[in-house]
Amino acid sequence: MNTVTQTERTTLKRLPKRGSYDRAEMHHILDEALICHVGFMSEMTPVVIPTAYGRVGDTLLLHGSAAGRMLRTVAGGVDVCVTVTLVDGLVLARSAFHHSVNYRSVVVFGRAAVVDDLEGKVAALRAITEHIVPARWADVREPLPQELKATLVLALPLEEASVKVRTGPPIDDEEDYARPTWAGELPLRVVPQPPIADARVLAGVAVPNYVTAYRRPVASA
Ligand SMILES: Cc1cc2nc3c(=O)[nH]c(=O)nc-3n(C[C@H](O)[C@H](O)[C@H](O)COP(=O)(O)OP(=O)(O)OC[C@H]3O[C@@H](n4cnc5c(N)ncnc54)[C@H](O)[C@@H]3O)c2cc1C
Repeated sequence: MNTVTQTERTTLKRLPKRGSYDRAEMHHILDEALICHVGFMSEMTPVVIPTAYGRVGDTLLLHGSAAGRMLRTVAGGVDVCVTVTLVDGLVLARSAFHHSVNYRSVVVFGRAAVVDDLEGKVAALRAITEHIVPARWADVREPLPQELKATLVLALPLEEASVKVRTGPPIDDEEDYARPTWAGELPLRVVPQPPIADARVLAGVAVPNYVTAYRRPVASA
């Protein structure tokens, strides 16, 4: 299936023409973005927590301290809503009202399952690491048993989800096009700055190519 099934809660109300349920488009956004926001109810209070993630096929992977509130709560099988946003540009209109943002975003609903088999856990941690810095895993020490024990890994199916995308110039009211006000798009991109080596990097260890050539989206995404 190339699309996820639209449900009542993933039905866009405003500007539904900007919405989509296309898996490939969703995967592309998820692979380009770095962080997600995880929303859930905790002791009668809505909470939204930013966190890193990875994706393997149609599964979103979250990880963190087994003692942390977010993962402990979400591991309990509660409903979650995860959002991912890429800001592509600012849209400056001739009126305050029509200012906007060009973006690509994903909203996912569901319940996450705990990944507790050792192999699955390591694979998930690798996917999350590689999502953030592709090629990094091969260079680093793999997690120790006690590190794995202290880490909770959750898998959220990408089945009930929606995509929304805005592109293009501002859409002003016809009479405002006569105003002498600059209007247009200001594109925004994630652009890495020169890397800063840790003071204790051993002599002779060069900055890896995957750091100097780092960019989002990654070449394979
Ligand atoms: C960077 C950015 C800035 C935005 N700024 C504003 C703003 O200032 N004011 C404003 O009203 N809206 C803004 N939006 C749009 C906002 O995300 C909603 O799309 C909007 O509030 C309309 O929601 P709705 O009433 O149609 O749907 P809702 O009833 O809120 O949502 C219904 C369902 O539609 C889907 N959905 C809604 N929005 C999105 C989305 N962005 N991405 C993927 N799925 C979605 C979800 O599955 C959701 O459960 C912004 C979006 C982004 C990404």
